[in-house]
Parts: sequence; structure tokens; C-alpha cells
Amino acid sequence: MRFFKGCVAALSLVVCSAVSAQVQPILVQGAMDIETSTLIQAMKNTREVTFGSWTFWKGTIDNYPVVVSRTEIGLANAAAATTLGVEQFNPRYIINQGTAGGHDPSLYRGDIVIGETSFNMGAYKMSFVEKGKGIDPAKWEHFSVTMHLREEGQQVEHSQFKGHTPLIDLAIKQTETYKKGKVVKGRIGTADQWNREVDRIDWFHETLGTSIEEMETSAAALVAEAYKVPFIGIRILSNTDQHKQDFDPQTAVDCQLFVLDYIKALIKEQAA
Ligand code: SAH
Repeated sequence: MRFFKGCVAALSLVVCSAVSAQVQPILVQGAMDIETSTLIQAMKNTREVTFGSWTFWKGTIDNYPVVVSRTEIGLANAAAATTLGVEQFNPRYIINQGTAGGHDPSLYRGDIVIGETSFNMGAYKMSFVEKGKGIDPAKWEHFSVTMHLREEGQQVEHSQFKGHTPLIDLAIKQTETYKKGKVVKGRIGTADQWNREVDRIDWFHETLGTSIEEMETSAAALVAEAYKVPFIGIRILSNTDQHKQDFDPQTAVDCQLFVLDYIKALIKEQAA
């Protein structure tokens, strides 16, 4: 009997560890400490690991594995951190979240944009202009990022990256519980830029349809697309020159609290 019990215990250990090894974590990203520390504090059993310049915090929320990634600022950092995140942790979902600047005049500081699409807003092409004829950024055209999709075996043009629809739908359901502003679907423009000329901001909004600008989402979305990991961008307006509202660091905390509720809802949905 003792031998039998031992066998059952050993077997359940093998089965349990096989099952837990299969649970893919939720990877949640923020560029800066102020955009990740609230999430890290909310996790249990936290362990920190760094590869190169990119730090990850592994832990659990409601007993579900979560990895918080500090991507650092900008597209190159976001792409590197996302590649590492996918290769090291094999995530089920990727959430890129944090602060952003407002482009859409109907949005104010504290409002949250759920990224239906994101794109590389800093990729330009322009017509030839003779030496001495000046510079005219209003005439610059946006161009698409081209990436090679492995399964398709061919070069596929990507002018934008779509958020994963079921992830977006779940985020929009949370609108009523968020008290600091509106939660809307929108278009995220990513560039290593901080634009403050309101005519230029209007130009982006009117020409490219941007709701907000920031520096990471579309680079993370590109890598998620390449690996076919469901992706969502969730960004809070921390500043908007459309309404003379300057950067407020509290918005980074508010965004993480929204994302924390979102992660819990996602975990609940997984269990169901
Ligand atoms: N004000 C901060 C610096 C933020 S640097 C400080 O002094 O510490 C830029 C970071 O904030 C990027 O990760 C970017 O995603 C985000 N961001 C917030 N508002 C932005 C805006 N208006 N334009 C571009 N990036 C913005």
C-alpha cells in the first residue's frame, strides 16, 4: 500500500509539473520604472532576471504566471525586449502598456486608448528636392515596414499591426470600472520622437489617423506578429498639447492599475 501511495505521489508530481510547465505566462511590458513598478508590486513569488540591458520580473497574479518586462525606451529597445520575452518565456499573450501623448483632440490626460492598430509613425520617405530648396516635413510621406513572415515564406508588407480582437473586446468591457477618464479604441503612432508642435500633431492625426503617440508599441507588435503571439497595446494619455496638459507621472500608475484589473479578468476568462 505504501508502495502504491508512493507511486501515486510520484506520478501526480510528474503530471502536475508537466501541466504547470504548459501554462504560458502573460507578458506585460512597460518602458520605464514608473510604468512597471506598480505591476511588479502586485505580483507574488517574484524573481528578477536580466538579459543584456533588459530586465524581467517573473511572478504570479491570482496564482497565474505573469512576467513583467521593463523594455526601456524606444523602438529598438522594445523590439529587443519583446524578442527576449518571447524566446525566454513563451508567453500566451503580450500586453504593451504605459504613457503616451495625445493627438486626438477629443482625448484628455487620463484617458486610455486600446490599440486597434499601431504603426511605425517615424518611417518616412520624401520626393527629391534640389539643394537649397529647403525642408518641408509636411510633405514627407509615411512608408510601410516590411517584414518577412516565416510561415508564409514570402515578404509581406505591414503598414500597421492589429491588436488581437478578443483581447481588445475584453479591455473595452472594463470601461465602466475605470474612473480616471474614458477608455476608447484607437490608433497608436510609435516613433522615437516627442512631438510638441500642435500643427504637426494635427497633421499626424488628420493624415495618419493617430489617437496618440509613444515610443514602443508598434515595435513590440511587430515582434508579436512575427511569432504569432496575441498582442494588445494599452496606453494612457500622460500629456496632451491639444489641451496644454503636461506629463503627469501618476497616469503611469493609473494605467498599471487598469492593466492589473485587465490581467485579472483575462486570467478569469482563461479559467472559464
Ligand atoms: N517625461 C519622462 C520621459 C519620458 S521619455 C521623464 O522625464 O522621465 C518617453 C517615454 O514616455 C516613452 O517610453 C514613450 O512611450 C512615453 N511617452 C509619453 N508621452 C509621450 C509623447 N508625448 N511622445 C512620445 N513618447 C511619449
